[in-house]
This record gives sequence, structure tokens and C-alpha cells, in this order.
Amino acid sequence: MVDFMRFIGVTKNALTAGPGKRLELFTKGCIRGVVSPCEGCFNQTTWTFEGKYRKLTINEIIEIIDRDAWNRQVTFCGGEPILQGRAIGKVAKELKKKDPTFHIVMYTMYKLDVLMKHGLNFYWSKERHQDAMLEQLKDYSASFEIKKTDAEGNPTLVKFEILTTDDVLELMRYIDIIVDGEYKHEQRLTIAKYMHDGGFIGSANQRVIFASETMTRQNKDNQFIYKYADEYMNEFNSSNHCKACGGSTQTEDYCSSLCENRYKKHLDESL
Ligand code: SF4
Repeated sequence: MVDFMRFIGVTKNALTAGPGKRLELFTKGCIRGVVSPCEGCFNQTTWTFEGKYRKLTINEIIEIIDRDAWNRQVTFCGGEPILQGRAIGKVAKELKKKDPTFHIVMYTMYKLDVLMKHGLNFYWSKERHQDAMLEQLKDYSASFEIKKTDAEGNPTLVKFEILTTDDVLELMRYIDIIVDGEYKHEQRLTIAKYMHDGGFIGSANQRVIFASETMTRQNKDNQFIYKYADEYMNEFNSSNHCKACGGSTQTEDYCSSLCENRYKKHLDESL
């Protein structure tokens, strides 16, 4: 079972990765980016599986998040975080155990309904893909099968089951919001129109799915609870926001005394 992750960086107090100021962790590697990148992707440095990265154990990731996410707002961005979804599920589960007020967001270009039905599967081919991708997918995947080899016995075609359907459900239990769907540049949420006070950057076709709420609320048809990203942002912009967690408030600066204390403590520590 995987007990580490690969990252290319982290940003503190990010204002474009969900509600509030968030600790944003950028995972390494995106199959889509390597094979056929989304037009206008802002994060090209995360695509490749080759080159530099920081490898952290699950415990190290939890320690870093616990130390640096002063308001408990955390986002996994990429790259394609869901390739490391089994490890993210573990991190999210442990964070929620430690402090249920952690609020966790994850982006993925894959559609969540398809993942729930089929898991995440991928064929790696020597002709088309990087060797580093092969090695890293071996680390992350639930299982893999070598389908073809060359004359020396090296794999040339490998089938990966990166996530099982159970892995997907486990992720959904502990991630508060999953933003799914590919980034479409022609539908991008512009900063001028949508990003007045932080929120999600992305495109209007992406869905902001309230994953853990979907899992806990026994809704009849197993329908997702979600909003399209532009709807979410229009609603977000129509309210006042808590200075700590970014949740909506009427006119107050904080949504709770807990958030007020966190904000004041953070200010004192930043002086
Ligand atoms: S937008 Fe996301 S999925 Fe698309 S190429 Fe960039 S990192 Fe990959």
C-alpha cells in the first residue's frame, strides 16, 4: 500500500483554490498534460513525471499540513492529484481524525461519476509514454498487469488499475469538495468577473461536487450534491466571507468564535 506522495510545490494562503486562504499542494505528474494538454493549462511544470520532485511520507504530509494550514483549509491541485488518490484518501482520513474542521478540496479532470462506476484505469505504452510515468504509476496503483514485453523482457504495454471503485468512494468520504472535469479555456472563470474575494479558478463546465456531503446524505438516487463552478462563484461573490475559513457570513467578519481565534492567533504569529 502506497505510503508516500510526490509533489512539486506548495503555496500558503492561496486565494484561487477554493474558499478562504488555502494551503495548496501541487502534485507531480499529469497524464493528460503529457499526452494532450488542456489548452491554457496554467501549470505546465507539473505535467511531466520526469525531473525533480519532493517525496513525502503520509506522516510528513500530515505534519506539514497540520503546521501550515492555520485555518484548516487545504487543496490538492496538480498535475493530476487523483493519480495519487489512494494516498490522498489516507492523508484526508487522518487529517479529519486529528481535527474534523479540516476542509479539503481536490481537483481532478476525470469525471467523478465515471470514476465511481469504473475506477481509474490506464494503459501505459512504451511507444507513447515516459518510463518515469511507468515507475510512478506502479507506486500509486491498486494493481497492474504487464500485457506485452520486448525481446529482453522489458514491459512495453502495462494495464494499470490506478484506483478501484472502493478507492474512489473512500476519497469521497474524506474530501469535502472535488472539482471535476477538464479545464476548458473558452469557458474559463476570469479573475476580473469571478475572483473578487478568492474562490475557485477554473472553467464554468467544471463541477464543484460536495463529495463528503454526498456520501453522508442518503439521497435517494445517489445523485451528487454539486454546483457548476460559475454558479458556485456567483453565489460565493454574493455573500460576505469569514476572514479565516472563507465560509459565507452575513455581515460579520467571522463565521464562528473558533475562526475568530484562529485568525487572531495567525495574525499575532505573522507579526
Ligand atoms: S489543466 Fe490539469 S488536467 Fe489539464 S493539462 Fe493542466 S494539469 Fe493536466
